[in-house]
Amino acid sequence: MVNRYHLSEVWTGDAFERDVVVTVRDGMIDSVEVGVPPGSEMVALPGVAFPGFHNDHSHVFHRLLRGHVGKGDFWTWREEMYRVASELDPDSHREIAAATFHEMVAAGYTSVTEFHYLHHRPDGRPYDDPNVMTDALADAAAEAGIRLTLLDTCYLSAGFGRPPQGVQVRFSDGTADAWAERVSAWKPPDGVTFGAAIHSVRAVNPRQMGVVSDWAAGRPLHVHVSEQPAENKECLNHYGRTPIQVLLDAGISGPEVTYVHATHANKADITQLSGTATTVCVCPTTERWLADGIGPTGAMAEAGIRLTLGSDSQAVIDPFEEMRLLELHQRLASGKTGTHAVADLITAGTGGARLEPGAPADIVTVSTDSPRTAGVPVEGLVFAATAADVRSVVIGGTVVS
Ligand SMILES: [Zn+2]
Repeated sequence: MVNRYHLSEVWTGDAFERDVVVTVRDGMIDSVEVGVPPGSEMVALPGVAFPGFHNDHSHVFHRLLRGHVGKGDFWTWREEMYRVASELDPDSHREIAAATFHEMVAAGYTSVTEFHYLHHRPDGRPYDDPNVMTDALADAAAEAGIRLTLLDTCYLSAGFGRPPQGVQVRFSDGTADAWAERVSAWKPPDGVTFGAAIHSVRAVNPRQMGVVSDWAAGRPLHVHVSEQPAENKECLNHYGRTPIQVLLDAGISGPEVTYVHATHANKADITQLSGTATTVCVCPTTERWLADGIGPTGAMAEAGIRLTLGSDSQAVIDPFEEMRLLELHQRLASGKTGTHAVADLITAGTGGARLEPGAPADIVTVSTDSPRTAGVPVEGLVFAATAADVRSVVIGGTVVS
């Protein structure tokens, strides 16, 4: 099936171009022509277009915690999250996943990386089908029409060797080999990218990390790291090294690997990380909500580290908010503007997606005549638009929202 979309103004990956016609064949971009006026055989998508936004770190069920105002810090929030995690079953997991994925699509996300760790029954025993909670996520993504990268997370310890406690037994397979056996039994449906995650240096030791990375070989592999100063402190006490140094020493780095947060990475961490081709996924709205701190993203970008963005706890689902906070947090921390250029914010927000032949036909358009966006120059839309300004969402060549 062939469709031709006319885009009056579009970010193609390098710059904004006018009057662009994107021809789509079987869900993929066949050609991109610049400077072509709208024609009767084309579908016009009004507004300013972008490649679809990519949400590189999500836990769908955290959506149930949105707006629950707590007092304390990350660790008190985690207790609330554990309470919610203890109550979900495969049906309610599917329902909250579908609702959250629908919200992402409406906000302009065309793809999501789900960091999935809620595997077993509340008492830790596997379900009859040990991957039924994983199936729930794949079903929900198919229903919402969002592209899914599913990361099955290995979680074995409550912290540096301590056994899982309470609801944490739902996350654990007991051993890294049992984790690998369970995930090897899951066959992803067509269109789902299947990868792995190491929950953190708290939950998985270096030997166990090796089992996960061997299984993951060639697939995406993500890991939470240095979100909280307490994690760095405990890791230094236990290993005599920072969490990032522990991961690097265990060989958990490279083009398939993403470190999530890295908020408390130090200068030596950044120096060692640069050159490994490892990505860092920043989650600004969650890091703000959980009082995590402001990560050294300017130093990372300067060191050539690729950055992506994620909605993580779903405190907010809005790719524009994530993109602008990458720069705005640096303004607060440095007293200067311009750490991250607009092009770099968009690249982080789309995961580097480009509208070019051979790429998936995932396109998002943004209204330029809303109360928020009227009169805003196209290069400033990242600082003015919200998820409510998303007008059309095309995934795989089909208008889904
Ligand atoms: Zn997370």
